[in-house]
Amino acid sequence: MAAQATKANMPVVILKDGAEQSKGREAQKNNIAAAKIIAEIVHTSLGPRGMDKMLVDSLGDVTITNDGATILKEIDVQHPAAKMLVEISKTTDNEVGDGTTSAVVLAGALLEHAESLIIQDVHPTIIVDGYRKSAKKAKQFLDDIAEKITANDKASLLKIAKTSMQTKLVRKNSDQLAEMVVKAVLSVAEKNNEKYTVDIDDIKVEKKSGGSINDSAIVKGIVLDKEIVHSGMPNKVTAGKIALINTALEINKTETDAKINISNPQQMKSFLDEENRMLKTMVDKVIGSGATVVLCQKGIDDMAQHYLAKAGILAVRRVKESDMTKLAKATGARVVNNLDDLFEKDLGSAELIQEKKVEEDKWVFVEGCKHPKSVTLLLRAGSQRVVDEVERSIHDSLMVVKDVMELPSIVAGGGSPETYAATKIRNWAKSLEGREQLAAEKFSDALEAIPLALAENAGMDPIDTLTNLRSKQIKGEKWIGIDVMKAKVGNMKTSDIIEPLAVKQQIVSAASEAACMILRIDDVIATAKSAGPPPGAEGGMPPGMGGMGGMPPGMGGMGGMPDMGGMM
Ligand code: ADP
Ligand code: MG
Repeated sequence: MAAQATKANMPVVILKDGAEQSKGREAQKNNIAAAKIIAEIVHTSLGPRGMDKMLVDSLGDVTITNDGATILKEIDVQHPAAKMLVEISKTTDNEVGDGTTSAVVLAGALLEHAESLIIQDVHPTIIVDGYRKSAKKAKQFLDDIAEKITANDKASLLKIAKTSMQTKLVRKNSDQLAEMVVKAVLSVAEKNNEKYTVDIDDIKVEKKSGGSINDSAIVKGIVLDKEIVHSGMPNKVTAGKIALINTALEINKTETDAKINISNPQQMKSFLDEENRMLKTMVDKVIGSGATVVLCQKGIDDMAQHYLAKAGILAVRRVKESDMTKLAKATGARVVNNLDDLFEKDLGSAELIQEKKVEEDKWVFVEGCKHPKSVTLLLRAGSQRVVDEVERSIHDSLMVVKDVMELPSIVAGGGSPETYAATKIRNWAKSLEGREQLAAEKFSDALEAIPLALAENAGMDPIDTLTNLRSKQIKGEKWIGIDVMKAKVGNMKTSDIIEPLAVKQQIVSAASEAACMILRIDDVIATAKSAGPPPGAEGGMPPGMGGMGGMPPGMGGMGGMPDMGGMM
């Protein structure tokens, strides 16, 4: 493979021995096959009747989920084209939070349909052009069908939050959880000339297994999964003055090996006394500022704890950096890096700081903060795996509420907008010249992969359902979709299954970009695995690149003999 012959039959060696190359059709077929496999994996988990996946990592840790992005992240794929699908689920997750499975299913369908055109000798560039135009049109059609809502209309936001939970394990608790999610987002949303922005990092999500999902709650303030450091401290402080400290209340240990020679007990005592004196000075600075609560990002020495306790100060150590930022925002305190800089003006405030028992742990709750926009969602569920999945579902739900607040337009769910756009594109395709038309038609077929998958996963007949859906939509009932829970075709809006326009747009853009990128590849060259890059060296080959399909594994089997090829 690595050597290519010239006309005079002289082999010209371009690639190192062991490198693998696949070209043209071969490369395309191979990439499409890999992407299709990825789409097939997540396909069965789409929609409210979708199945969950159990993923076991190399350490034996088990994750059970039906979240597309999580599934693909955990399975750690190696094929370069498959990796691109994993990436779109990741970007979709970051951009809009929901729709990760749909994006991958759509990309897989786009590639599958493109393959049938490639077999008919349609050049990939033409397919790519057709797809790009269709994607743009699809987004327009989605825009047309979308309905504007009031950005902070709680009733609509609740429906949107609930729809995103319909496909998750938390469906049964979606009323209660949606209420919490919407409350949380509304309380952190900022309004700027009629437009809202939401930073969901302002919402702290803490989870603890034990109890049931019903026990989940929203706390107006910040919850720290840490306990008070010393039992002599008050476990409750009202009208607290809070110091946020990012330096250890400990004596710095020397970095280098230093020896202190102590020859008599007197010296030992004065050494310890000196240490105590230094710690006392530190604590005095804290006391001097007027703080009644100390939240420290670093450690607090036993002696310092003792002095703080004596002064009646409540202290917590090793608070996470992200929590320090949230606390600063919530309480109005400034994070202080040097105790000499700690003054009264740097302190924040909260009405109530107290330690509460959460299952077997003790956590510190900082409530009634100066800045009312700080909230924590405290998630509970019977077991660790369940509470992990609850957290993922809550993330999706928070994101969709954010999405509509920022772009207050909604569409129906249940495959309704996808079918609508598909029908419109099929009509519009007729206006295209030549083979691009074929590509546009395939694009609409691919869009229908979403309703097809929803029907299939619900045990409905996919083809019958889709034709029924299409014919009703053509009659003008544009909110018609597949009501999976009732196993029939119906009006999704009256069933309160609504989703943000932003999610649907993102699915179309992400999927078509990935599909086009994969289609444009006609040459895959994988350099040989080097026998052993120096440990920690960057830029080594991604593992398994050598195992490119179509070539027997081990073809690049030069492992252990670095550069031998060059010497022969
Ligand atoms: P994704 O990761 O793409 O969000 P989901 O498994 O959450 O995947 O499934 C989302 C799809 O399920 C969307 O197309 C949505 O409209 C649809 N859906 C959600 N609830 C219902 C329902 N009750 N009936 C029909 N479709 C639904
Ligand atoms: Mg979803």
